[in-house]
Amino acid sequence: MTSEESKRGGAANSNGSFGKAERVGKEVASHPPSLDDSLVGDLRAFLIDEDHLHTYDDLTKVNPVTPTTVLKCLQARYHAQVFYTHAGCTLVALNPFQPIPDLYSLDVMREYHNAPQPQESKPHIFIVAEEAYRNVQGQLEPVNQSLVVSGESGAGKTWTSRCLMKYYATSQDTVDHIEKRVLDSNPIMEAFGNACTLRNHNSSRFGKYIQLQLDRSQFLVGASVQTYLLEKTRVACQPANERNFHIFYQMMTGASGEQRKEWKMSHGQRFNWLPKAAKTLEEDCFQETVEAMSHLGINSEKQAEIFRILAGILQLGNIHFDAPLNESEPCTLEGQSKEYLQGAAGLLCVPAVELQACLAVRTLMAGKQSILKPCSRSECGVRRDCLAKVLYAHLFEWLTMFINNSICADNSTWCNFIGLLDVYGFECFQMNNLEQLCINYANEKLQQHFVAHYLRAQQEEYVLEGLEWSFVRYQDNQSCLDLIEGNPTGVFPLLNEECRLNRASDAGKFRVRLEKELSGRGNISWDKFSKEPHFTVAHYAGRVSYQIEGMMEKNKDPVPPEIIALLQGSGNPLLCQVFGDQEAENSATRGLSKVVTVVAKFKNSLESLMKILHSTTPHYTRCIKPNPDCKPLTFHKKEVIMQLEACGIVETIHISAAGFPIRIPFSGFIQRYGLISGSSQIKQLVHNLEAGDNDLLRSAVEAIVSTALGRRSIGPMFRVESESCASLV
Ligand code: ATP
Ligand code: MG
Repeated sequence: MTSEESKRGGAANSNGSFGKAERVGKEVASHPPSLDDSLVGDLRAFLIDEDHLHTYDDLTKVNPVTPTTVLKCLQARYHAQVFYTHAGCTLVALNPFQPIPDLYSLDVMREYHNAPQPQESKPHIFIVAEEAYRNVQGQLEPVNQSLVVSGESGAGKTWTSRCLMKYYATSQDTVDHIEKRVLDSNPIMEAFGNACTLRNHNSSRFGKYIQLQLDRSQFLVGASVQTYLLEKTRVACQPANERNFHIFYQMMTGASGEQRKEWKMSHGQRFNWLPKAAKTLEEDCFQETVEAMSHLGINSEKQAEIFRILAGILQLGNIHFDAPLNESEPCTLEGQSKEYLQGAAGLLCVPAVELQACLAVRTLMAGKQSILKPCSRSECGVRRDCLAKVLYAHLFEWLTMFINNSICADNSTWCNFIGLLDVYGFECFQMNNLEQLCINYANEKLQQHFVAHYLRAQQEEYVLEGLEWSFVRYQDNQSCLDLIEGNPTGVFPLLNEECRLNRASDAGKFRVRLEKELSGRGNISWDKFSKEPHFTVAHYAGRVSYQIEGMMEKNKDPVPPEIIALLQGSGNPLLCQVFGDQEAENSATRGLSKVVTVVAKFKNSLESLMKILHSTTPHYTRCIKPNPDCKPLTFHKKEVIMQLEACGIVETIHISAAGFPIRIPFSGFIQRYGLISGSSQIKQLVHNLEAGDNDLLRSAVEAIVSTALGRRSIGPMFRVESESCASLV
């Protein structure tokens, strides 16, 4: 079977027949049973072979396909330590939560890379990698590929992405070791962008799309990274029992005596922004991060500038203000805060007086005149946090840019790419705000891409082809996307409008506005008796309540112009560089109508991503977290079934199982079956396939088929489609 075949459907089953033929045209379950049905139906469930559930490499072979049978099969495989299973066009990856010896070894990589038909090997993430790699060549012209890895927090997306990158990087050994540099971007991005959360000890707090650039000979010659929505609030505010970004702990653990002194990090020093929730292994990797930085060309001077900024941020966290006796005076520094302010100023290379003024006094413009107004105690805290966030976010952006400059190939050297998408999964916490709305919106977009690309496209194609087919219903999430992004009355446009009006944010009023504009929509609701203004969205993966309080402020994300001006004058060359050409955003003189909101920026970057995804051939991997406690080899049915439902895996299997699982391009078909035909013309075509135009190839396929049917050698399960494919069912 060619890669093209398996890309589009399933694989030939183990007994050699092309399974599921009997399902086409017959009634298939129009919708999978609900969660309740499935649990009740547990006893009723039967499979082809209950005793050998773990042997089902492809869930399309399970019969009947219900959430329960799929779950049982995955559970049996998990207990048999088989972690990958095909689900039609999707690969399901169960997280073992423990290293599995030899599962990702070099030998295994070679095995898949050298296999004539990798799809016939045991399901593995390397099949996806190899398939994408071979598909780049395309049948007629090269096609860029995207590997979309999804799943909830802790499901294994980043692990999977790392495996995929290693696979591509390991299959070659170039002179300039570009593959090593590409891999070195991982520890840096993870040190600065990951943190220990309640769900995952190494949780990515940003989204990432990395394009692996290939030259004409399919060699990896470079890569580029695009990041999305770093959770910068974590720098200054960590949720209970969670930690700050790994890099801070790495510095604390790995600094030399001299560095400790310079960074004002003596042993036993307590920093408010470094909570001591459970320690993780990633925090011991300071040396690895530093080495990766050096490999990528961040010299020791630049590294020193980076670490001084980070150390300065930690000092900022220990600064507290006291309310002044006289309200017209600025707040004063509390207790030891003076020392920390001096420390922060020294590390950030700005004058301490200016730093203090910048945190405690606001400059207002009245016409051309500026007026100084002392900030309240809480405002001082907000400005301090804002300074830390803007420093960290800019540093992260600079690092991404530097990494890109270091690993990106010259445009003339690469011609195709394989994109790897590792973005945060659907989130639903007790408190959800703008961050979750953006993340869940991104997941809605990705789900729609999946639905459009696979579920809808495949079924519409069947209808177009006039094939006998009973439609499998799937959840179309367009209405939810309309609710969020629809112009002019989606949540995002309304939020942006509210932010652009120069008035104090009022959560209650905004809720009333939302209700007025959106109450007719089916997928938004309100609990009228709730004290907190909020709205609840029915996402494809579940309902999420978003609190409105703070949403407008988060969307405006204002940075006081005084902060930008302060950093522009810093003696730290890196700070000068990153803030140098930045206009003081949101300044009173610029006017609020020009403010680019968080939502607007995010929507734009997501739209660019979707454009890229649409231009590529996607491959989907659904990572599943088998239990919420990240325990090795522990399988919680309820949690797993919810994840399977959330990503529509059962619908996917239904369509894959009932559809035409094998598609062979005309040329491939002629190559393989041409000899069946006695015609010398076809034999000639086999030897000279490029010469054939599509019509010629099609008639050749038809001729082979009629010969074969005449001889009854391939049976009636065959169809020649109109474009460029022949299908076997
Ligand atoms: P988040 O959305 O929070 O970033 P994630 O989906 O990226 O989560 P990972 O960080 O990739 O999750 O995985 C969580 C942990 O699970 C890993 O740190 C690792 O310990 C374990 N893990 C994941 N996949 C595997 C695997 N294939 N084999 C062994 N352990 C794994
Ligand atoms: Mg991750």
